[in-house]
Formats: sequence, C-alpha cells, structure tokens
Amino acid sequence: MAAECLFCKMISGTIKPQTVYEDDKVLAFKDINPQAPVHVLLVPKQHLATLNDLDAKNADIVGALVLAAKKVADDYGISRSGYRTVINCNADAGQSVFHLHMHLLGGRLMHWPPG
Ligand code: AMP
Ligand code: ZN
Repeated sequence: MAAECLFCKMISGTIKPQTVYEDDKVLAFKDINPQAPVHVLLVPKQHLATLNDLDAKNADIVGALVLAAKKVADDYGISRSGYRTVINCNADAGQSVFHLHMHLLGGRLMHWPPG
C-alpha cells in the first residue's frame, strides 16, 4: 500500500468507491467521470504505479485484471455487443492516477484509433 495513493485508500476502505466487483487480487469500481455508459476501473490490490512496474514475478496481476474485466462486462450484459479495455501508462497516454488500473468501457460504439 502507498499512503498517499487514491486507489490504495479505496482498497483499504478509507475512501468508498462504487464497487462493482471484488476478489482477493482485484477491486473494480465505477469511474467518477464516465466516458461511456459502462466505465469501470479495475485495480490490483497490490500497489504498482504503472505498467512498467510489472515483471515476471507479478505478471499474474494482469491476468487477474483481464478475467475480472471479462466478468464485469458479462455482469453488465455487454459481452456480446462489445467493450474495450485500456491501460494508460505515463504521461503520453494520459495516466493521471499512479496505481496501475485497467479501464473497462462499453455500452456504446467505440471509435478507432482512440484520440
Ligand atoms: P487514468 O487517466 O488512466 O490514470 O485514469 C484515471 C481514472 O480515474 C480517470 O478516468 C478518472 O475519472 C478516475 N478517477 C479519479 N478519481 C476517481 C475517484 N475518486 N473515483 C473513481 N474514479 C476516479
Ligand atoms: Zn496504490
């Protein structure tokens, strides 16, 4: 845990997000500024600042995030219509919270390439 990290505070319960899914490795909650009808953030309970902090020892975190995203998409009924998962890494990608997280976006037609 990182003391000043917003998402660590959500994991510890100091701040209460709108949780939609939780297991031993992952917490998933509604994004406060949704960019689609479904916009959920999936965060590992272990604090890693960015995707660059993944290595062979903790790479299972990404599998847990993806499986949780798949489950949440199914719960929202968007598995067949489609959805997008995104991990922003550092400044050029627009990362604003430095606790690794995956966005799950769906419920509308997505465009490609993203801006
Ligand atoms: P990123 O730009 O990839 O770092 O994404 C950070 C996301 O966190 C943004 O989509 C924000 O809207 C979202 N966010 C920031 N503060 C909160 C909060 N208190 N609760 C839920 N989502 C948040
Ligand atoms: Zn954190």
